Amino acid sequence: RTRIGILGAGQLALMLAEAGRRLDVDIICAGQPGDCAEQVAPVVAVDLDDAAAVAAFAAQVDLVTIESENIDATVLHGLNLYPNARAVGIAQDRLPEKSFFQVCGIGTAPFAPVDSLQDLERAIVSTGLPAILKTRRMGYDGKGQVRLHRPEDAAAAWEEIGRVSCILEGMLRFDAEVSLIAARGRTGQIVFYPLIENHHRDGILRTSIAPYAHASTLQAQAEAYMTKILEELDYVGVLAIEFFVQGDTLRANEMAPRVHNSGHWTIEGSKTSQFENHLRAIAGMELGSTESRPTVMLNCIGMMPSVEETAQFPVLFRHDYGKESRPGRKVGHLTCAASETTVIAEWQRRLGQI
Ligand code: ATP
Ligand code: MG
Ligand code: MG
Repeated sequence: RTRIGILGAGQLALMLAEAGRRLDVDIICAGQPGDCAEQVAPVVAVDLDDAAAVAAFAAQVDLVTIESENIDATVLHGLNLYPNARAVGIAQDRLPEKSFFQVCGIGTAPFAPVDSLQDLERAIVSTGLPAILKTRRMGYDGKGQVRLHRPEDAAAAWEEIGRVSCILEGMLRFDAEVSLIAARGRTGQIVFYPLIENHHRDGILRTSIAPYAHASTLQAQAEAYMTKILEELDYVGVLAIEFFVQGDTLRANEMAPRVHNSGHWTIEGSKTSQFENHLRAIAGMELGSTESRPTVMLNCIGMMPSVEETAQFPVLFRHDYGKESRPGRKVGHLTCAASETTVIAEWQRRLGQI
């Protein structure tokens, strides 16, 4: 049995550990007491900023993986880590990430690095307005972003973002936002899930619909981009790439070197979930089929609906991460066959999505 250590013990680690029950693997998480993965797997108290503590944790397992890209690259070096530290390092910093997309021949929004107010004023000229100022590191759920509409917004935006290393991105007009999730095994085998359509509100993912209804030639284009990136990085594990759809072109927004929120529907919707395929990939097993049924996932933000409430809709699958309620926090999700349009609309309403 392979002993897999996960750096982190949040909901992604929880769902990885659930998937691990079906495989010949043992999962141990590095986190803090009370973290939600504790419901399923042992959680060892480890400060993930402390390189020595992380190395000591890694020494107790065969290999380690991550549930968040926001772990300092210096902590990751020297670990038997899947995906590798180079891939994580690129994905955790928006500047090398966007540059890497371009080197791979993948279009992005126009962008420019910003390390001072003067840089920002220059960047506005090159990207045009409106634009989004984003911190290079640590952003998630739209945090660490400020929008600019007029040149005069520069000084206030630079203060608001906290004068940290940023990129400025020109705001794209797009037809849809989609993501592609794939897994690459140690032998180079790659499997892809269908393109997923994602809807955000206040910067937070609310709904994911799979497959994206207007995929046509985009699926092949996204798979070609994904293959290029996976092979270029010698990547092992699940990778998610977020794209903007503009007509029949895709522009890459960002990538996540891990299982992804927009792939939670694969637990019920696919023969093999993203979580199981991630574990299979990193443990050196053959990857499972990604054959999928049309499925919708609704995020529960801030508050989890009660069991009694969801039980009145037997077509729903309820995932409660067991986290404390807090505004803006992802505390669970609901999954449903895409054909249940009335139930989905009702729950989008109840969850405040529409
Ligand atoms: P996540 O939670 O997905 O990691 P994040 O905080 O890393 O989010 P982004 O994905 O970069 O942030 O941006 C959040 C959302 O803001 C995007 O899903 C999109 O709706 C919008 N957005 C970001 N960049 C652009 C852009 N260049 N043009 C238009 N919209 C954008
Ligand atoms: Mg992100
Ligand atoms: Mg994003």
